[in-house]
Amino acid sequence: MKLSTYFLPTLKETPSEATVVSHRLMLRAGMISQSTAGIYSWLPLGLRVLKKVEQIVREEQDRMGGQEVLMPLLQTAELWQESGRYDGYGKEMLRMQDRHERDLLFGPTAEEVITDIFRRYIKSYKALPKCFYQIHWKFRDEIRPRFGVMRGREFLMKDAYSFDVDKESAVNTYRAMMRTYLKTFQRLGLAVIPVRADTGVIGGDLSHEFHVLAQTGESQVYYDKKFDTFRENIDQVDVDEIMGLYAMADEMHKPEECPLEGEDLREARGIEVGHIFNFGTKYSEILNAKVVLADGSSIAPEMGSYGIGVSRLVGAIIEANHDEQGIIWPESVAPFQVALIGLGGTVEVSEVCERIYKDLEKVGVSVLYDNRSEGPGVKFSTADLIGLPWQIILGPKGLQEGLAEIKCRRTGDRESIPLESLVSYMQEKLC
Ligand code: ATP
Ligand code: MG
Repeated sequence: MKLSTYFLPTLKETPSEATVVSHRLMLRAGMISQSTAGIYSWLPLGLRVLKKVEQIVREEQDRMGGQEVLMPLLQTAELWQESGRYDGYGKEMLRMQDRHERDLLFGPTAEEVITDIFRRYIKSYKALPKCFYQIHWKFRDEIRPRFGVMRGREFLMKDAYSFDVDKESAVNTYRAMMRTYLKTFQRLGLAVIPVRADTGVIGGDLSHEFHVLAQTGESQVYYDKKFDTFRENIDQVDVDEIMGLYAMADEMHKPEECPLEGEDLREARGIEVGHIFNFGTKYSEILNAKVVLADGSSIAPEMGSYGIGVSRLVGAIIEANHDEQGIIWPESVAPFQVALIGLGGTVEVSEVCERIYKDLEKVGVSVLYDNRSEGPGVKFSTADLIGLPWQIILGPKGLQEGLAEIKCRRTGDRESIPLESLVSYMQEKLC
């Protein structure tokens, strides 16, 4: 992609409405544009990141056996009246009527819809276990939308729903989802702590929230320092051991029952990016979803639901990965892998940059080529602001010597690389 034609409306000034760094940087880097309180458009650069996050979440859901579906944004009030949640949900639920004056709502979550699908098609225990998921927009009329996409009113969520024949099988599914979440967040380059959660309105007895550690987090997290070592080899960890470790999120102070002291206890700020629940037969019973067992009797399946805040994650990743100059994308979610910066405005430099750009794209490296007629200061600050992992810098002097400079955005390290080995060098770096 060439910056001269790319729609990247960066801002020099810090937008005054933004109080947290990720919100400021997303606006300044031209990733999003606010439409009204808590509702945003995703501009090209932001959308590329959102799609990358979404894809990693999808791949890990698929890997654990989830089957992707897409449920309606608008749901009928009838289903929610049947489950008994219509009146209780309160003002967070956006309600509306169609032309026939039938009550509809913009889905804040989809337990009712998925249970309705289940009860219409699945009748036998032989079809279990089943896990469905979708990655779709939700609307919750938050009383105080803030922090940009981190607490929006319209937001993108991965919501999964599981159905199992008995408790034991349901707990296995829960464990598999726990592992899937740990893997997902690791791939996103995030340090995450699964914290035992209050099961709240949904009820039930098994629930964890996943908190990204970042200084600006809304909650205070207390956790066993062993989490920090587990994170390095997520594929080998024993999920039961992880679930047995102490971790709590509390607004203000260390919980009274905390068994850890001194060195063993870590304390940090956290942003909730995911939540998993096992809530038993609450919805299957009330909505009359049943399966017939081998002996002819019928039971209500055990259910769980599992959310990940996909759009919130984009903000959370920035909260955990930035410096004074701007964003520092983890490679797995970077909107482009390389910023190619041509300096000096000479025909020769442009020609060589053009060639590097084409050669890199040919081998599958995504490049944002700054071919604008701007000075070095503007180009460097744009590149640092939008935070692509690698910068390739070429000016007249380097060209004379046959060298391009490569800068790693995260460490600031610079290297001079001969032009003829640039492509293979970048390929190696990115593998
Ligand atoms: P919170 O306590 O932050 O309001 P929640 O408990 O209401 O979250 P869930 O119902 O568990 O959230 O939704 C699953 C995930 O969706 C959350 O872990 C979070 O990452 C994301 N999420 C929830 N509300 C919002 C929102 N208003 N804006 C962006 N993401 C959200
Ligand atoms: Mg909420």
